[in-house]
Amino acid sequence: MRLNTQKAEFIRSAAASKDFIRDGLPQAAFAGRSNVGKSSVINRLLNRKNFARVGGVPGKTVHINYFRIDEKLYLVDLPGYGYAKVSQCEKDRWARLIQSWFDDPALMTLGVLIVDARHKPTVDDKVMCDYFKSTGRDYVVVANKLDKLKKSEIEPNLALIRETLDLPGWVKVIPFSAEKGTGREELLGVISAMVSPSCAPEENLV
Ligand code: GDP
Repeated sequence: MRLNTQKAEFIRSAAASKDFIRDGLPQAAFAGRSNVGKSSVINRLLNRKNFARVGGVPGKTVHINYFRIDEKLYLVDLPGYGYAKVSQCEKDRWARLIQSWFDDPALMTLGVLIVDARHKPTVDDKVMCDYFKSTGRDYVVVANKLDKLKKSEIEPNLALIRETLDLPGWVKVIPFSAEKGTGREELLGVISAMVSPSCAPEENLV
């Protein structure tokens, strides 16, 4: 089975549990601090320019956005976090929405936590990672903005990310650059594998 990332459609924006999709298709949930490049990672994955919105006002959209890929899986865009300027009211909305999503751990097939390859993960990153851990499902960490690192910084930074998030050995940390495309194949492979273990990404279709 092959994943055709050209067949990508926006399905729904959910602001409450009643709007969550529960139709049995696998769901890959993307989470990350505002401005970490979550939209850029999604766009790179789908090879689109403006599919997920890049550079919007951070923290303004407390919604969960669902994209269906190739009619085989959902890419679930969880609202960004950690933007200092949002009101307490917005933070509470974020927490309620995220909590209600994770109250139903069966919703997530795969978690994709996006962190900044340049920095030690924040306390908020750790909280998000703990949400993923609590599901008992597979998750990966994407270390984005790799292009901003010197070669000598890559290994130590990846090790710091693994250590700070206290990741079990089986959790992959994927070095990624939404800007350059680094890591796209690896992430696509992990996502494809959740549909079917033998499902490799097919470059001709992508
Ligand atoms: P989001 O808030 O997490 O969705 O972040 P965006 O996708 O809007 O990206 C935030 C900013 O980081 C934008 O200016 C992007 O161009 C930039 N950005 C995202 N990914 C990368 C990357 O891999 N490398 C570099 N150099 N910049 C990136």
